[in-house]
Amino acid sequence: MNLFNKIRGQHRALEMLHSVIDNNKIGGSYLFYGPEGVGKYTTALYFAMAINCLEEDKPCGTCYSCKKFLSFSHPDFIYLFPTPNMKFQLDGSIKEEKFLKEYESFLASRRQTPWNTYTFSQKTELRVDAVRMLIHRISFSPNEAKYRICLLEAVDLMNRTTANAFLKTLEEPPPNTIMLLTSSRPDFLLPTILSRCRKVPFLPLSVIDIQNELLEEHGVEAMQARVFARLASGNMEKALQLLESGNTESRADANELKELIVAHDDLGFMDFLGKLRQKPPSWLYEVIIHLQISLADIAFFEHNQEYLVNIDRTHLIEMMYHKYPNIDENIWEEIRFLEDCQKKLKGNVNSQLILIEIYNRFCELFC
Ligand SMILES: [Zn+2]
Repeated sequence: MNLFNKIRGQHRALEMLHSVIDNNKIGGSYLFYGPEGVGKYTTALYFAMAINCLEEDKPCGTCYSCKKFLSFSHPDFIYLFPTPNMKFQLDGSIKEEKFLKEYESFLASRRQTPWNTYTFSQKTELRVDAVRMLIHRISFSPNEAKYRICLLEAVDLMNRTTANAFLKTLEEPPPNTIMLLTSSRPDFLLPTILSRCRKVPFLPLSVIDIQNELLEEHGVEAMQARVFARLASGNMEKALQLLESGNTESRADANELKELIVAHDDLGFMDFLGKLRQKPPSWLYEVIIHLQISLADIAFFEHNQEYLVNIDRTHLIEMMYHKYPNIDENIWEEIRFLEDCQKKLKGNVNSQLILIEIYNRFCELFC
């Protein structure tokens, strides 16, 4: 099977890439840009595989070369992504045990599915030592590939010094070396970087695309697929986060938070804030996902009870519904507010401030 067929909803990008491969006119650098969770990274990886694939129908996913790309073990594949300060050595090694573990967990999670959100223990960016490592590695000839591939993910998370260090390589890459960059915020890139790349545009996914992916690839039940596809606002990564949030500790905590909100229990909330110190960094992010699902539950409560996700908490949904029966009119405003909170968390804004903001806003909403 041609792996490009697995990419949903990105006809324009795929048309461009097919034409590059069919005419064998491979450029030096490409920027895959568009919103988060729509397949930029996966398409870039498949493009890298297609360029080097040994079979007719490229990328096949099964030949010797494709398999090495899929397992990140290809010696001519250099993959950079935002990380904490891991102090990469020039040969790509990491000295500190803790960071090496995180680095390997990230790759393991990526191998499993590109849609996983991996949370590092510290603030992440594309760092200058990673770029130096890349420059060092491409100073040697490729080992075995037709084209050596450098894939740089979220390239907007580079500071100016790093961007400048990278620029010269982007301008004059060694022969047969291809730079694939991805970004969901191309307006944050230096114009000199933008102008050096061929641009491959990505669009938000449609509700139907997400629904079909959930139904066909993840075995989700039809009704749930419809609800999560709607909630995901064109972002496949988010649809899967909603799906995986399941019956976890963070769900129980989100329910506790909802009870506190409905009761306007400020003292109880002060205790709840203490959880921030005991939980892993991803905890509040997950709690927010459950709040988003809860908002949908409240909106569906009156007319579409068959869509409810938290069916074991209907009393709580009902209570919240009665406090604010018009939520279906502005549910998207509240969901966007929660999405902004998630973005702030990723940007390392103080999580206590974010939790307080959510509590205050929802206390006012459900008064
Ligand atoms: Zn292949």
